Amino acid sequence: VRAAFVNQSQGETRRMHVPDLVGTPWDRLDFLGWRDPRAPHRAYLVTEHDGETRGIALRLTEAAARRPRSTMCALCLTVGEAALMVAPRAGKPGRNGSSVGTYVCADLACSLYVRGIRRPARAQPPETLTTEQRVARLESNLGVFLARVLRGG
Ligand SMILES: [Zn+2]
Repeated sequence: VRAAFVNQSQGETRRMHVPDLVGTPWDRLDFLGWRDPRAPHRAYLVTEHDGETRGIALRLTEAAARRPRSTMCALCLTVGEAALMVAPRAGKPGRNGSSVGTYVCADLACSLYVRGIRRPARAQPPETLTTEQRVARLESNLGVFLARVLRGG
């Protein structure tokens, strides 16, 4: 998993908290996301993008890490506890401070929400999409976000 990370230094990747991945239901996940329990402003996301496994390091402001806002996740469109997460761009642009930010479910459980495996805390706006369509929309939004992080400049 560590080898997949594209937008942080090797030292940061070595020190990164990685949860126990044994038993992870990969077939039900569009991406694997987690927060560092000892540093809640650090979040990580691993997914397939263009046939390759990619890992993205994300940062939250201290305020967002403490108290997520009640808003819509830009990836899975669940209305609930979401936090602005900022990813440094891969390569030189990221080292020069360029980054991409988006609102993501604070628990990074978008894959579970779109499949109805985890229920959001609050009632959702009515939606007519099937689970497959919701999964496809999540994958599409995730792909756009990944492309923005990976694209230089
Ligand atoms: Zn979400």
